Amino acid sequence: MARLQYSDFLRQLYGHKVQKLNVNAGFSCPNRDGTKGRGGCIYCNNASFTPAFGHASSSVTQQLLDAKLFYACKYADMKYVAYFQSFTNTYAQIEKLRELYDEALAVDDVVGLVISTRPDCLGDDVLDLLHSINEEHKVIVEIGVETSHDRTLELINRCHSWQCAQNAINKVAQRGLTVGAHLI
Ligand code: SF4
Repeated sequence: MARLQYSDFLRQLYGHKVQKLNVNAGFSCPNRDGTKGRGGCIYCNNASFTPAFGHASSSVTQQLLDAKLFYACKYADMKYVAYFQSFTNTYAQIEKLRELYDEALAVDDVVGLVISTRPDCLGDDVLDLLHSINEEHKVIVEIGVETSHDRTLELINRCHSWQCAQNAINKVAQRGLTVGAHLI
């Protein structure tokens, strides 16, 4: 069976060739602020994948405009998806989430969202919001699963279980959202 490249999968989902643009919206994480744990997962280093234009001191709009400029000279006719990647991108009050996601979708040629989060940060209110956005703009929810071994989850200080990840994957899929799992 032929494997589908991720870029082709995105093209099918969005109906265009799309480039993911990283956004650092200034979120924190319950595994760093003491809500679930302190110090975070043992490998946590968000700076390692944050591009030069992805600093939380800039607005979401400005980060996306800067990123678009970076890619615009490489590809003609490109569309974009805003990739909320840094930290836990559903970890805020629902109105704040709505405001940030709407801001991203208001940028020209941004046709969808990719939201990276923990499995224990996908309450019904968040899923309702993502479901409503998905009716007009496709949303991919990327869940940090990492492993199906609870012992390993404990060793890397994830502060959630494999069962929690399974529940989250099922809930996201049941809302008709596209779901991805990060493994380590
Ligand atoms: S869940 Fe993500 S942001 Fe939070 S501590 Fe772990 S790797 Fe870092």
